[in-house]
Amino acid sequence: MITTSAYAANEPGALLHRVKIERRQPGPHEVLIDIDYCGICHTDIHMARGDFPGQVFPLVPGHEIVGRVQQIGEDVRGHSVGDIVGVGCLIDSCRSCDECVSEQEQFCDKRISTYGRYEKDGFTPAYGGYSTHITVASEFVLNIAPSLQPAAAAPLLCAGITTYSPLRHWNVDAHSRVGVVGLGGLGHLAVKLAAAMGAEVTVLSTSESKRSDALRLGATDFLYTRDPEAFSRNSGRFDLILSTVSAALDYDAYLRLLKRDGTLVLLGVSDSPITVSGFSLLPRRKSIAASPIGGIRETQEMLDFCADHQIGSDIELIAIGDVNAAYERVLHSDVRYRFVIDMNSLR
Ligand code: NAP
Ligand code: ZN
Ligand code: ZN
Repeated sequence: MITTSAYAANEPGALLHRVKIERRQPGPHEVLIDIDYCGICHTDIHMARGDFPGQVFPLVPGHEIVGRVQQIGEDVRGHSVGDIVGVGCLIDSCRSCDECVSEQEQFCDKRISTYGRYEKDGFTPAYGGYSTHITVASEFVLNIAPSLQPAAAAPLLCAGITTYSPLRHWNVDAHSRVGVVGLGGLGHLAVKLAAAMGAEVTVLSTSESKRSDALRLGATDFLYTRDPEAFSRNSGRFDLILSTVSAALDYDAYLRLLKRDGTLVLLGVSDSPITVSGFSLLPRRKSIAASPIGGIRETQEMLDFCADHQIGSDIELIAIGDVNAAYERVLHSDVRYRFVIDMNSLR
């Protein structure tokens, strides 16, 4: 075992603080990664505060991990010592069900999350990327192209794939009109990715102060959603709307913004019931859906797409000691547009 430093919440809602954790020496098919950067996803905050049931505490968050391969097991192929690599929200799955065979591990009933639950053995807590090292099955380790800036690539491992996957699934291209609700970590990458796919992108935001950033990131329009006229003026405009907001929205109002056959995709969700009138869906055959992250093959495809289009996250790089303050700022929609922890500050 290798003793390493990490930041953990001891119980739901507790402040994160420094702890020591154990990482195993890599098995034959595993990779030991020396972590350089880890993004702060809003999900980390939900998990650390106990918003979702069933989490294992102490909880070391972090599933937007970029680092360098320090050691590989004897049977590892495709990763070498020194490579820049990433780990996202999944560290393993059953590898044999229909979902795994079709490279959609995010839907595997036995998928293993990077943190908050147990590892594949069923009893070792899985600790995430707010730590100096992690040992992961090599098949779940992604390659980061040298042309990507590593700190700016870290948020791609969750925020990037979570927005890329639905854009691909709903066939976004140069003919698409896409709305992005919420300009935070997920939202700003959704704008960059959809614009790179050729779509006409509009940001729908509660923060008028983000208007100029939205246009700089690649949107061609910005709707301030606290203005009711934003909805009446844009009825029937979009093919696809991605919502990155976990708070309940007036979903009927957003559905009215869709064209015939348009889809409202929820990326942020909570456990409160979603209330929608049937008359918001029926007349123009509209849909409401939700989408979780993406599979490993698609995550690599997204990383390669980002390398080709020079897409990285807009980040605020922080030291690990500032993580609790960063959480407060994320909760106040005050991040431009992803906090990334410099893990050197933990060494
Ligand atoms: P974030 O950086 O905090 O961004 C969320 C944005 O939503 C905020 O910047 C804000 O944008 C807007 N917003 C916040 N509260 C709002 C409210 N009450 N009403 C309307 N808009 C509000 O969060 P994130 O990291 O992008 O994550 C967004 C959500 O997606 C979280 O709930 C997270 O757990 C979830 N998530 C889901 C997946 C998945 O697999 N589906 C993956 C990762 C994260 P404006 O200031 O522009 O309004
Ligand atoms: Zn995430
Ligand atoms: Zn499976």
